[in-house]
Amino acid sequence: MAPQDNFIEGIRREFPLLNQLVDDKPLIYFDNAATTQKPNTVIATVEDYYRSANANVHRASHALSAIATSRFEQARQTIADYLNAPSPKQIIWTRGTTEAINLVANSFGQSFQPGDQIIVSEQEHHANIVPWQLLAERSGAVIKVIPVQENGELDQAVFKQLLNERTKLVAITHVSNALGTINPVKQMISQAHDFGAKVLIDGAQALPHFQVDVQELDADFYVFSGHKIYAPTGIGVLYGKESLLESMPPWQAGGEMIEKVSFSGTTFNRLPFKFEAGTPNIAGALGLAEAVRWLIKQPFDLISQHEKALFDSALDACSSLKGFRRIGCPEKHVSLLSFTIEQFHQQDIGLLLDKQGIAIRTGHHCAMPLMHALGLNGTSRASFAFYNTLDEVGQFATALEQLISPIS
Ligand code: PLP
Repeated sequence: MAPQDNFIEGIRREFPLLNQLVDDKPLIYFDNAATTQKPNTVIATVEDYYRSANANVHRASHALSAIATSRFEQARQTIADYLNAPSPKQIIWTRGTTEAINLVANSFGQSFQPGDQIIVSEQEHHANIVPWQLLAERSGAVIKVIPVQENGELDQAVFKQLLNERTKLVAITHVSNALGTINPVKQMISQAHDFGAKVLIDGAQALPHFQVDVQELDADFYVFSGHKIYAPTGIGVLYGKESLLESMPPWQAGGEMIEKVSFSGTTFNRLPFKFEAGTPNIAGALGLAEAVRWLIKQPFDLISQHEKALFDSALDACSSLKGFRRIGCPEKHVSLLSFTIEQFHQQDIGLLLDKQGIAIRTGHHCAMPLMHALGLNGTSRASFAFYNTLDEVGQFATALEQLISPIS
């Protein structure tokens, strides 16, 4: 057994859900871009919070509340350190990527004027399109779209042409959820900054595969969801530059985000609480911090190598299948295989694989404009995490082969 196999076996033992049968077949979970499974340590952290430390944060003077508050704020610090954010004040807890983008659209977007421009790309998840469309309707701002090329990369020449002094915001994904393409966001941020535009990066599909340094990228806003990096659902993060967050009005209103409430005028709390109305997902935040602590301990090189091997092996095994077509760019991608098979509707592919215990995602992947641009009604998507094995990939390819040439 290669050292890598030992490592993956050990990792798999930490994910209890992976060890189960679906229709009497061992589960093969290749829907990691939708959500990842959770390691024992994350599950234990959430359980321990409810068993021993559950209290509301920042509100009471009692001991339990002090413990919950301290763990909650420590979790914020862990995320700040992980992203290399200058301060935990710049880490706003949200329900996920979607809520983080809506926060920016509703708060930062409040100053947008008719004729201001918002640049998005054809690759975006609906969560990074629709909030800007609603903002454009409210404000009179105009949305411009960076086209995707046939190979799945964004057309950088058009991006440069779209930028001008009316561009207020560029909102682009770091990694495409439907194709796996890694976009050159650092360069795009710098080009946008040349015109004074701010940039929001949707990191939902990036953080599951590599670490991000928000200062190195010089991102104005960076958003992601916990559940895609081995943490619970219902928790996510908005990182923002401090001066921007300071200048932005609150979005949702209620408890916690206030300093003083009176009918003659209410004042708002300091960062980050100004943007955190109501009781937060405390257990989720602790679970996310634990997921990050756990990730940091993993051997990053081995993980990257293994994820690459999973992708290469899947592509290699599937390429010879009749009618198989990979959708996505040849280089600069994460371990996500989006494909079509001639004569087969992706829904049927998904259902037939499910009968073999293999979970993939099929359809438009919440990226309808991208599918439209590529002339597709959808794709099948196998998205790998480092707890997947080469053996599982082999079974996946065999199942596809049987589907294409059924044994009569
Ligand atoms: N952006 C991208 C690129 C995604 O892949 C997803 C989820 O699939 C989202 C945004 C929305 O994330 P959430 O549903 O966790 O808010």
